Amino acid sequence: MQTSPLSNLNQRVARASRGLAMTLTTVSALLLATPSTHADDSPQQVSAEELQAPTRVVTLGTGTPSIDAGRAGTATAVIVNQDQVYLFDAGSGFMQTLGHFEAEGKRDIFPPTSPNPNAMLPTFLDKLFLTHLDSDHILGIPELLLRGWVLERQQPVRIWGPAGTRTVVDGVVEAYQPDIQHRLGSLPISEEAPYTGIVEELGSDPGTVYQDRYVTVSAFNVDHGSWEQGEAYGYRIEAPDKTIVISGDTRPSPNLLEHAKGADILLHEVMSVAGMEAMSQDWQNYMLDAHTTTHQLAEIAREIDPELLVMIHPLFLGAPEEVLLEEMQAAYDGNVVLADDGDVFE
Ligand SMILES: [Zn+2]
Repeated sequence: MQTSPLSNLNQRVARASRGLAMTLTTVSALLLATPSTHADDSPQQVSAEELQAPTRVVTLGTGTPSIDAGRAGTATAVIVNQDQVYLFDAGSGFMQTLGHFEAEGKRDIFPPTSPNPNAMLPTFLDKLFLTHLDSDHILGIPELLLRGWVLERQQPVRIWGPAGTRTVVDGVVEAYQPDIQHRLGSLPISEEAPYTGIVEELGSDPGTVYQDRYVTVSAFNVDHGSWEQGEAYGYRIEAPDKTIVISGDTRPSPNLLEHAKGADILLHEVMSVAGMEAMSQDWQNYMLDAHTTTHQLAEIAREIDPELLVMIHPLFLGAPEEVLLEEMQAAYDGNVVLADDGDVFE
């Protein structure tokens, strides 16, 4: 059941918006009533009323290590005030999804870029938060760094992630030196143009990792196979008008339940029970140690009770897409969507 990536974009936007309207009033009222707990040098927070556009979640890639014609590697963008984009993971080919927005006349949900505000230049992608370093979450890093650079991004990409992130980013810059030196010698790009990433490794007890006038981003440990504490994270993004939680890859995790409380939109990985049960026992053991079944996700969603549950990174494991959806709908009667690439939730 593969449709054009953006064919149901309007429908998804409407569906998410209806459910969120009431909660968002409550959240913004709470934010306004709560004094800042940050130091004086923290940025002045924009209020929900001051936003020019609702905070939007865009699934630029919903894939896994499996090859799937409709799904780029995993990457989720949070766009606040049509001004700043916060990117969570950078899987293979995610940047190509941006092109669909231009083709469908939806360019303007992303920030304008100079020198041509209407061109879909990826130079607004300058903040990347990594959940972990499995390749399906980081294969797009070279593209993020170098494609943005060639298209004249004026600032380096800031990258937050687990231990090892610096090795990955430095390795990308090293691996692509022939390309970088060739372009520096032939294109009218400044010698100082930033093709690099500025890395911050977050450690085993990350907490709040980033704040600006729009968002507070916190990272928390999740349980993903043999990755240790500090090597696999979920993220909580508190924007003026809503709170978004992204699970990363994880089996059911008590720490996720704690940090996802109050989420308006919960984006969570998922795998099909039927698909998993058709695998060998060794593979089942691995999958259950690393990932979350539809039935387990239903329990998690009931506890968190988000306005909208968005299933990302679906591991069908050979089961048809309809089967995964049926498993979820039979186990959970809340508002739930299986994300496609190019979906927008607000
Ligand atoms: Zn993954």
